[in-house]
Amino acid sequence: MKAKFHDLEAKVILVTGATRGIGRSIAESLASQGAHVVFNYREGKEAIANELCEKLKTLGAKNATAIMFDVTNTEQMKNALDTFHKDHPPITGLVNNAGISKDTLMLRLKEDELSQIIDTNLKSAIMITQILSRTFLKAENVSIVNMSSIVGLMGNASQVAYSASKAGLIGFTKSYAKEMAAKNVRCNAICPGFIATDMTDALNEAAKESYLSSIPLKRFGESSEVADLVSFLLSGASSYITGETIKIDGGLYI
Ligand code: NDP
Repeated sequence: MKAKFHDLEAKVILVTGATRGIGRSIAESLASQGAHVVFNYREGKEAIANELCEKLKTLGAKNATAIMFDVTNTEQMKNALDTFHKDHPPITGLVNNAGISKDTLMLRLKEDELSQIIDTNLKSAIMITQILSRTFLKAENVSIVNMSSIVGLMGNASQVAYSASKAGLIGFTKSYAKEMAAKNVRCNAICPGFIATDMTDALNEAAKESYLSSIPLKRFGESSEVADLVSFLLSGASSYITGETIKIDGGLYI
C-alpha cells in the first residue's frame, strides 16, 4: 500500500519531462496523492499531453494542466509559466526531471552534443528554478526535487557529458538549498540507478547484463519506486531534509 501524503492535496506541482518514463510515473503518483499536477510537453505532442491530463484527473488529481515549452528554450518556458500563473494558484513544488542521455567516448564527443546535454539536463533546471524563485519566495513550504543520477556520483565510461550534467545538478541543489533555506524553500537531489524506461531501453543487452550483475538487489528499478521517493520529498513528511542527495539504485553504488 502506498503512503498517503495529505499535504500534497494543497500543492501545485510542476513536473518537467512527464510525457514518458520516470516523469510520467511521478505525475501519476502526485495525481493519486490529490495534487494539482502541471507538466510541460514539446510542440507537436498535444495528443499525448491531452491524454495524460485526462489520466491524471482520473487518478485523483485536484487538477491537471499541460503547458507547452521546451526546457532548453528559456523564453518559451518563461512565457508559459507567466501565462499559467495568470489564472492558476502558484506553483509550490517542482520536479526538474526532463533529461537526455547520449553515450559517447570522450574522443568522439562533439561540442554541440555536450551543449545539448548540459542545456537540457542542467541549465534548464537552473533556469526554471530561477524563473519560479520569486513565486517560491512568496509561498510556504516549497519543495524542489532535482533528478540527478547515480553516474553523477560515481561517473561512467562513455558518459562524460551526461555525468557532468548530473553532478552539476548536485552542486546546484546544495547551493540553492543553502540560499533558500531561510525562506523555507527546500531542495534535494535524487540519484536513480538503472530504472527501466525508454532511456535505458536504448542500451544494448551486454550493457544491461553488466549493470544487472553489479546491482546487489539483482533487478532494475521501477519508475513508480522513484515516484514514491519524489512524493515523499515534496511532502511535509520530509520537512527537515534539504540539500540532500539520495540514491535510489538497488545498492549499485554502496
Ligand atoms: P525518458 O527518455 O524516458 O524521458 C525523458 C523525458 O524528458 C521525456 O518526457 C522527454 O520529452 C523529456 N524531455 C527531454 N528533453 C526535453 C526538452 N528539451 N524539453 C522538454 N522535455 C524534454 O527518460 P527517463 O524517464 O528514463 O529519465 C528521466 C530523468 O531521470 C532524466 O533526467 C534522466 O537523466 C534521469 N535518470 C534516468 C535513469 C534511468 O535509469 N532511466 C537513471 C538516472 C537518472 P519528449 O517525450 O518530448 O521527448
